[in-house]
Amino acid sequence: MSFVIVGSLAFDTIETPRERRERIVGGSGTYCALAASFFTRPKVVGVVGTDFPKGTIGLLRSHRIDIKGVSRRSGKTFHWEGCYGADPNMRTTVRTDLNVFAGFKPELPPSYRSADILYLANIDPDLHGPVLAQVRRPKLVAMDTIRFWIENKSEAVFRELRRVDVFFANDEEVKLLAGDNNLVRAGKKLLERGPSIIVTKKGEHGALVFGKEFIFGVPARPCEDVVDPTGAGDSFAGGFLGYLDKVEKITPREVRRAAVYGSVVASFVIEAFGIDRFLTLTWGEIETRFREFKKLVSF
Ligand code: AMP
Repeated sequence: MSFVIVGSLAFDTIETPRERRERIVGGSGTYCALAASFFTRPKVVGVVGTDFPKGTIGLLRSHRIDIKGVSRRSGKTFHWEGCYGADPNMRTTVRTDLNVFAGFKPELPPSYRSADILYLANIDPDLHGPVLAQVRRPKLVAMDTIRFWIENKSEAVFRELRRVDVFFANDEEVKLLAGDNNLVRAGKKLLERGPSIIVTKKGEHGALVFGKEFIFGVPARPCEDVVDPTGAGDSFAGGFLGYLDKVEKITPREVRRAAVYGSVVASFVIEAFGIDRFLTLTWGEIETRFREFKKLVSF
């Protein structure tokens, strides 16, 4: 199988109640690819500026991530600034400097075009069409979105829902898009708009996965010290889709396991700032925590 991710490679400025970090490496594509690299060999499409560290590109390579689809343009890398309150589920976007991302026209190298799984991380929904036109016959297409696109391009988001199999969003975004304050009703409404699976991420409360014939809940690992929640959503998607990329057949049971792996990987990334936790994370730690999850919900 092969897994292609189209997303941002970024500098993030992050403020938590305890600490502020300026311009550390982040981006939806970066988090998702690193998370997925524990399961498969992801291929990334994105753009960086001349200021993006060569060391990070080397780090992605050392995780066996294919970066042929990442181009370097003259100018500055995409920069996002976010601020968390005492409740780590509450995040405010302080600023978004698109920089080289403004003219991003995703171009898939020939070796990416036979992708089995395609993930459109929270990019402009109007870019989906041109990306989909470049892949031959993907088995599964997934997308994530953010409040910004729901508020500014909701028609485009709905149009794109028709073309994807899996839709990831946080609970607040699912309710906003569906126009319903009840998460279960909202999830079901979005199922009628196209995707066969809606993954609703609920921060420290885990995730709810809506399928046509099932609802599956996965907890978040109880964590006393959330250092930096940034990237948890993209890492969840990376773990989820990375796992599905290596299974023989995508069945409802595998979708459940994928959701647990997504939650497990996300539980690591929030333990340190930015992508730092990925620098030390091992497959053994992932497996140990996967077993812990089983105990957490067995009765
Ligand atoms: P999350 O997994 O939701 O915490 O995603 C956080 C990442 O999304 C950060 O590393 C940001 O760089 C990235 N990000 C934030 N806004 C955007 C945007 N408009 N387009 C692409 N990536 C973004």
